[in-house]
This record gives sequence, structure tokens and C-alpha cells, in this order.
Amino acid sequence: MKLLVTGGAGFIGSAVVRQLLANTGHSVVNLDSLTYAGNLESIPEKYIGDRYKFEKVDVCDQSELDRVLSICQPDSIMHLAAESHVDRSIEGPSAFIHTNIVGTYTLLQAALNYWQGLSADRKSRFRFHHISTDEVYGDLEGTDDLFTEETPYAPSSPYSASKASSDHLVRAWHRTYGLPVVVTNCSNNYGPYHFPEKLIPHMILNALAGKPLPVYGDGKQIRDWLYVEDHARALIKVATEGEVGETYNIGGHNEKQNIDVVNTICELLEELAPENPNSLASGCEGGFKRLITYVKDRPGHDARYAIDAGKIQRDLGWVPEETFESGMRKTVVWYLENREWWERVLSGDYQLARIGESV
Ligand code: NAD
Repeated sequence: MKLLVTGGAGFIGSAVVRQLLANTGHSVVNLDSLTYAGNLESIPEKYIGDRYKFEKVDVCDQSELDRVLSICQPDSIMHLAAESHVDRSIEGPSAFIHTNIVGTYTLLQAALNYWQGLSADRKSRFRFHHISTDEVYGDLEGTDDLFTEETPYAPSSPYSASKASSDHLVRAWHRTYGLPVVVTNCSNNYGPYHFPEKLIPHMILNALAGKPLPVYGDGKQIRDWLYVEDHARALIKVATEGEVGETYNIGGHNEKQNIDVVNTICELLEELAPENPNSLASGCEGGFKRLITYVKDRPGHDARYAIDAGKIQRDLGWVPEETFESGMRKTVVWYLENREWWERVLSGDYQLARIGESV
């Protein structure tokens, strides 16, 4: 198969691209406009060969989308391109409305035109896989409640509202025009190549630098964490085996309070980076945990998210391979061993990779 992956230079998209190239025989067209979150260095040279092509294209640009679809002739589309950071959506919602809603609409139109022109056989095998978030469901009040595929939408932030809108558009294009879509809604991801503005890498890098570890409010907000490689495995399964018109929730069965996540990072760093001047082993009183600092809560902050991932397990046989403990350990080790990747992100040098972007 040839898969068109939008947002393939981002955190989750790059994991999908790496897995498709390393573990399958499929070809990949990575379509990404390279915003601040796009980093071509997240797809190292060893993955790049005849089965990989990069196109620097904005999903809001229909004529460019038409060009790429007609030249590349993909068998399916996996749509991950989005603005994805909740704090940024609160400070400046405009880019979120533009990319997440208008961009998804534009891609749907281009995909529909393309799909209608395919042979009957290719038409029946084509999928438009829309990748979304559990944040569309809002937050959960009861401690035992879980988001299922039937939970009504109640988004809280400009980010989640824009993703909810895009989900509705995708389902409408299926119902109205017959476009064969599948939708996935996933919980919080973490793992290698995560942009340092997000909670887990932000805490790891601040701790290593001896900077404060800012925790919103009382730190008791609960998130369901999934290791990014597990999410990528689930996405490839849904894109290639998912039932048309269906939605699959994806989660890690790992509900943790934010403060527990930060404590876990500090404990792993005490074990894995004892030579760091902020560790207990190097004589620093209080060690990494002394850096934890409570800050004013985020407006509209959701209290708890938790996913029931039973349907994807039953229907497609997907279960996560990593526990929270094993995934967090792999993540901290990765950041300790891949300094060059994140130092180039922090310095802004990663954007230089854009010069050589036409791979
Ligand atoms: P990310 O911010 O790391 O990457 C987004 C990518 O999209 C970047 O490479 C960026 O350059 C590209 N992009 C942005 N605007 C674009 C545009 N207009 N045209 C083309 N490319 C554009 O995001 P991520 O964390 O990898 O998330 C990917 C998808 O998964 C998003 O749709 C997000 O809503 C969803 N999701 C994320 C999480 C999570 O925990 N990160 C959880 C569930 C779902």
C-alpha cells in the first residue's frame, strides 16, 4: 500500500512514519507544512529510502493537495496534521480553527474528488483515517466513568472544540458523500521525539537543567497515558483493517495524576542520571523533586480523562505493549541518550533541516 500521512513530521505522525517504514512494506508520502511542531529530524536518515517521499504542503491549500494526490496516488490517507497544544489554543485560537477545521474540510474535499476518480476496486479499499483526541468528550466527573465511542461530545478548550468540529466534518463526509472514513480518539501520548513544550519532555529537560518543574493547580488532574509507539501501532491497524464508518477509542489504561507523573520522572532521573548536579546522589538536598513548583491552574482545565479501549481490543485485537512504568523508563532513557535531538529543538536549529526538506 501507499499511505499519505499528514502531519508526519510531528510527534505521533513521525512515529507512524517510522513504523510504516521499519515494520511494513508500505510506502509513505509525508505531507506536512512544517510549523514549529514539525521536525524532519524525527525521521532519521536510516528510515529514508525509495518508499519515502516528503511534500511540504499546507492542508488548507486545496490545489497543492490535488497535485500531491494525483501524482502520488495513495491507497489511503492518515490525517494527523493539526495544531495540538492546549495552552497555545488558549493564547491564540486562530491557527487551531484554521488548520484543524478549515484544513480538515479542505483535505476532505480533495480526498473526495480523488476517491471518486479511483477504479471500483481501489475505491472500495480506500480509507480516510482521521486521528483525533479523547479531549472532544470534555472531562469525567465520576471516578469510575470511562469515555466510550458513544460518549457525547463536550469539548472544553479551543483545541478540543476544533478537533470535535473536525470529527463532525469527517463523519458528515461519510454520511453525505459516502467517503470511506474511520475515526480514532486517543488519550494523552508520551514517548521519544515529543516536542519539549508538552508536560513529560518539559519536566525531564527542566529537571536536567535544574529549572522549576511547573505543575498546574494542585496537580491532581488525571490523564490516561499511552506510549506513542503503542498509539502508532493502533493507528496502522485501524488504517489498514478498520471498519468503514466506525470510531475506535484508543487508550493506555494508565490513569495518573499529573503530580504522580512528575514524581515518577524525578525518581527515574535519580536512578538514571545520578551524575546530574540536581540529583540526591550528587549531594543536592531534596534532589530533583525540590524543583516541583505549583503554578496557577490553566483556565477551563479538565479534571479527568479516561478511555474505554475495549472496542479496538475486541474488534482489531490491539492492546498496548507498554505499561506506564516501562514506557516512562524508555522515555527518560531516550531523552538522556538523544541530547542532540532536543538540544537542536531548544536552540531552534532543527528548523534548519527545512532547507533540505525535499527528500
Ligand atoms: P504535533 O503538534 O506534534 O504535530 C503536528 C504536525 O502537523 C506537525 O508536524 C506540523 O508541522 C503539522 N501541521 C500543523 N499544521 C499543518 C498544516 N496546516 N498543514 C500541514 N501540516 C501541518 O501533534 P501530535 O501530538 O503528533 O498529534 C498528531 C495528531 O494526533 C493531532 O491531530 C492531535 O490532535 C492528535 N492527538 C494527539 C495526542 C497527543 O497526546 N499528542 C493525543 C490524541 C490525539
